[in-house]
Amino acid sequence: MTVRACGIYARISSDDGTALGVSRQIEDCTKEAERRGWPLSEVFTDNDVSATKAKRRPEYERLLSAIESGAIDALVVYDVDRLTRTPAELERFIDLADRHHVALASIGGEVDLATPQGRLTARIKGSVARHEVEQMSRRLKRKFQANAKDGKPHGVTPFGYRKERLIDDQGRDAGYREVIDPAQADAIRELYRMLIAGESLRSLAKYLNDAGFQTGRGNPFAGNVVGNMLRKPRYAGHRTHAGQIIGKGDWEPIVTQDVYDQAIAVLSSPGRMHTRGLEPKHLLSGIALCGRCGAAMRPNIPKAHPDRRSRGPAYVCPACTKLTRQMEPVHALVNEFMVAYLTKFDLRSSAGESSDALRTAIDSRDAILARMDNLADSFAAGEITARQMARINEQLQAQLANAERDIRRHQPNRILDGLTGPGAAEAWEATPLERKRAIIRSLLKITILPSGPGIKFAPDQVRIEPIS
Ligand SMILES: [Zn+2]
Repeated sequence: MTVRACGIYARISSDDGTALGVSRQIEDCTKEAERRGWPLSEVFTDNDVSATKAKRRPEYERLLSAIESGAIDALVVYDVDRLTRTPAELERFIDLADRHHVALASIGGEVDLATPQGRLTARIKGSVARHEVEQMSRRLKRKFQANAKDGKPHGVTPFGYRKERLIDDQGRDAGYREVIDPAQADAIRELYRMLIAGESLRSLAKYLNDAGFQTGRGNPFAGNVVGNMLRKPRYAGHRTHAGQIIGKGDWEPIVTQDVYDQAIAVLSSPGRMHTRGLEPKHLLSGIALCGRCGAAMRPNIPKAHPDRRSRGPAYVCPACTKLTRQMEPVHALVNEFMVAYLTKFDLRSSAGESSDALRTAIDSRDAILARMDNLADSFAAGEITARQMARINEQLQAQLANAERDIRRHQPNRILDGLTGPGAAEAWEATPLERKRAIIRSLLKITILPSGPGIKFAPDQVRIEPIS
């Protein structure tokens, strides 16, 4: 469609906190119109700063007439929240624009009113932009699904899913939907399993690359990319908007909520998830702490020297440099401790302890998500205002964060699966270094204590404390 006459609508408003000047809006909109090759025909400007309620916007009304009369067939706004002030107003505007085939564009953010996705975002953004709380209602979503029938896929399909064309009863193209890609979904489930078992993001990325998978852009996976991917709540069936969980999605989850929660617990535990540099080659480097200053100890591998009696590798403190300890006896001690710990560790009783609290936290989160869905419905039905919704939503988001923190805290520690009981000694021996390090890191605080010069190693020179 070729644009004949483009309009610009600008509004200055007291209620947005940013007080973006009208001239700046017009300047940017003019540039956007030029960029799109839309001939500029008219500029509409309202001043909304008046303190009175029920503000009238004469220029906005003139804009609507210009659209109805066909005087303009395109419109550029700085941001959707300049154009309309309520969801209902935005709905009426988009209907009008659709009827008259008006091309729409905006500068602010990612919102492109020319696409169904952009319109959906605009509906959300326009309604509550002031509070920067973005909430998606079911009603808007249904409308979006109707809009999606023009065949445009909405957004990037995440790894694990693929797009499937929809054909309606009459054999016509009815857009896309996302379905599980079995091979990718299997890989995702394996990634969660590896993560929960204590493997590093680096080795997860290697697993994907070795299996021949690539990122959407055709690159190999890196550890941090995989970490971000596994954080996506959509794999557990949650719908998100602007980085927040806002309700249940209607697609098929790839992993259970339980697996997802455990993975998030792993990903958010402090001191974990190093994705850069080389994989440490020593059991306790970066884990054992200096008993003098508290810094994490580093390995020191002396070069072989023909004239001297060779000394074995040691841990040294890089901060105070006053503490050095041979690795060998420390490793022996820690391994012995771990085997004893794992042998008598009872997975069932430890799981039982926290399972009630976990259940409560999960119930509480589900209740909050349900309230969010209801809230969105009330808002879409016009029963509450954007301001009310924003305020309630803010409270709900805080409660949701609490519930999720509780879920993480009471998560059974699956990192020990397969290692406990009578076979612990053999199992620990056979565990890869990386997983051993992850387990030690999550369970123990190990401090190398200072000792006098020349004193031989004694077990009391290492303090091993469980992390509660
Ligand atoms: Zn030190």
